[in-house]
Amino acid sequence: MQALARQNSKQTSHLQLVQPSTSIEVPRRLIFLGPPGAGKGTQAAILADQWQIPHISTGDMLRQAIAEKTAIGLQVQSYVNSGELVPDLLILYLLETRLSQPDTERGWILDGFPRNLAQAEVLEELLQRLNQPCDLVVHFEVTPQLLVERMLQRRRQDDTEEIIRKRLEIYQEQTLPVLNFYQQHQNLYPVNGNLAVESVARILQISLRA
Ligand code: ADP
Repeated sequence: MQALARQNSKQTSHLQLVQPSTSIEVPRRLIFLGPPGAGKGTQAAILADQWQIPHISTGDMLRQAIAEKTAIGLQVQSYVNSGELVPDLLILYLLETRLSQPDTERGWILDGFPRNLAQAEVLEELLQRLNQPCDLVVHFEVTPQLLVERMLQRRRQDDTEEIIRKRLEIYQEQTLPVLNFYQQHQNLYPVNGNLAVESVARILQISLRA
């Protein structure tokens, strides 16, 4: 009898332990892939705000480190300003630190990562280790002409014609293979990124049941 009571109380405490996580909404963990200028950042910001989950942009993290002149910022400055990828180890360190923060518990939108096959492979391991598997990879498809137009319009420091060309070149060479990687490994969801911001946002909301 006592043993049964003990078992029951064990079950109750177990239930109490699992209860909080069942009352939290389903975790939403998304990777946004697409060329520079595709609108990933804009859409990620809209959804992250709506779902109240972090928008993790590796580009924003790097620009912030550069602006704050941190040790990492000083190391990555020349890469970002010339449109090259920063070394994988540095960006992985930043990403792991960010994903380990408590606000990632309800989900996240990853924007700007992974950008090459090595990053994609390490990310799989990292997400497994952190017990935060990705739910969906969204691919923003945009015609090259529109990409250049959009980037020139936003007038960021690394958005001069020459640096844009470099970033698009790196995208073709290094990031396109990442699409094949996800096609083979999980759910790759294509979105027409040529449309207006509001239209893409609506499509995403409907298809992701935001
Ligand atoms: P965009 O999507 O318009 O190219 P981002 O803000 O994502 O802009 O990235 C800006 C720059 O930051 C890149 O050109 C690159 O130098 C650096 N960067 C961002 N993410 C990564 C990454 N995952 N790996 C290496 N470098 C990165």
